[in-house]
Amino acid sequence: MTQTRTAAPPGLMPGLMMDRPLLVTQLLSFAAQFHADTEVVTRTVEGPIERLTYAAMWARTQKLANALIGLGVKPGDRVATLAWNTGRHMELYYAVAGIGAICHTINPRLSGDQMRYILNHAEDCVLFFDLTFADAVAENCKGANSLKARVALTDAAHKPAQPALSDVLTYEELIAGHADTFDFPEFDENTAASLCYTSGTTGNPKGVLYSHRALMLHSFAVCTSATMGLSVHDRALPVVPMFHVNAWGMPYAAPMSGCNLVMPGAKLDGPSLFELMDTEGVTCSQGVPTVWMALLATMREKGRKPKALQRVLVGGAAVSEMLIDAFEKEFGVAVNHAWGMTEMTPLGVVNTLKPKFLDQPRDQQMPQKLKQGRAVYGVDLRITDEAGHVLPNDGKSAGHLQVRGPWIVKRYFKSEETPLTVDGWFDTGDIATIDPDGYMQITDRAKDVIKSGGEWISSVDLENAALGHPQIAAAAVIGVPHSKWLERPLLICVAKGPERPSLQEMNAFLVTKVPKWWLPDALEYVTAIPLGATGKIQKTKLREQFKDFRAG
Ligand code: AMP
Repeated sequence: MTQTRTAAPPGLMPGLMMDRPLLVTQLLSFAAQFHADTEVVTRTVEGPIERLTYAAMWARTQKLANALIGLGVKPGDRVATLAWNTGRHMELYYAVAGIGAICHTINPRLSGDQMRYILNHAEDCVLFFDLTFADAVAENCKGANSLKARVALTDAAHKPAQPALSDVLTYEELIAGHADTFDFPEFDENTAASLCYTSGTTGNPKGVLYSHRALMLHSFAVCTSATMGLSVHDRALPVVPMFHVNAWGMPYAAPMSGCNLVMPGAKLDGPSLFELMDTEGVTCSQGVPTVWMALLATMREKGRKPKALQRVLVGGAAVSEMLIDAFEKEFGVAVNHAWGMTEMTPLGVVNTLKPKFLDQPRDQQMPQKLKQGRAVYGVDLRITDEAGHVLPNDGKSAGHLQVRGPWIVKRYFKSEETPLTVDGWFDTGDIATIDPDGYMQITDRAKDVIKSGGEWISSVDLENAALGHPQIAAAAVIGVPHSKWLERPLLICVAKGPERPSLQEMNAFLVTKVPKWWLPDALEYVTAIPLGATGKIQKTKLREQFKDFRAG
């Protein structure tokens, strides 16, 4: 249950403990001292594998901090990155935040217009970019008036050749001449450290400005055994990009726990991930379901898992029963479901089974495992009805999922409006249930839920059920107008091969998984489901494509 606080009573006595601010730079400095030979391995964009110890990375981070000062970067300035998961990107995280500036990670999958909007909105003063994005930089920086310098994340030998990039510096040359010591200042832990824009499925992307304090507290939570359980025995490969909510906090949590990091760079396909995981002895990895589907295909081809892989964390979209079963039963790799969002730094809930579920037969465990999970300590969760009344945690009532906590957004960057409810909660835009054991399950996005005759049909559940069909490769469900029920589900599928199950065949399969009245009224096949910059189904595009469709 959540607690509300009344005003502070008079006569409180201050505690007598040191008031040392929580600043992210402390994490890398700590790792350099106490996990000095622990590695950050990168598959570089240029090709070769590069190995850095935390001690070496800390030295390079200090060189970079000196270089940033040399470029004229000041506290509060925004420094943009357009980059994959690499050691250099991680050095930027620490050096930029360490000097009191803000590391603005840009999602390279954004459209040119959105990228220009973000560069200008953030008023970035320097842009660091991977070679993969050289063309995008040449194109999209036109009109980005605040940029004073652009730096290619490479060495002199790989400097981009495009005429429009003749002024760019290279990272290795930039830091080369600088001292590897830097006296990082101490400042208020509520200072901004990084900036990430939401994926902007409605309107323009909105900036979420993470404070040092939020990132540090979130990092403690990421390390606990109830979440990722990171330790010195781990070699973690975050597939989730550093440009999407700080790779779920991994670049901070790894140095905190002394865990090794394996950074995949630009190659995120199944065979490349398999090979890197296998050769680098990766024990755990984090990513969205589509990544695990690709890895699964490679594991099946090879008839084995990457040799040391023990567990994967799946978030960003709902995990399917098929995926959990394939990883756990075929390959002995544990799957944990998680949910969060850009506005939440991002972790909100993680699914680990309570002891009472562990003894159950697997088919009884599965409904519990499919739920997104229980709140991570630090995040309060509640569900409300349309009028804002709190609904019971009975596992049945579905309502608007609201959250609050020290790593949850209070206001968007450069916005005066509060996105919070009158009593201080953030409405996630998700619809969910919470069961008496505290497991939260997303049933839909508020704007995607299908309202059939006043009852709600979960498009997400229908999609997951359809994905379990052996001939279906991808599925999306949208509501389409209906004369009697107002809205009914339209199932849109991509077939795996030439076989295309009919609506009747599909519904005969679905009826074993969802209530009968949820069954889609129509089925359409497409060649691809449109995905947005963060890999989520773009239902707005599908609604546009099927705007004249009527269910009856
Ligand atoms: P983003 O801010 O781009 O990370 O998107 C956050 C949104 O992704 C959430 O509000 C959910 O709608 C969705 N999401 C994240 N994780 C999950 C999950 N495990 N299951 C279903 N939806 C998810």
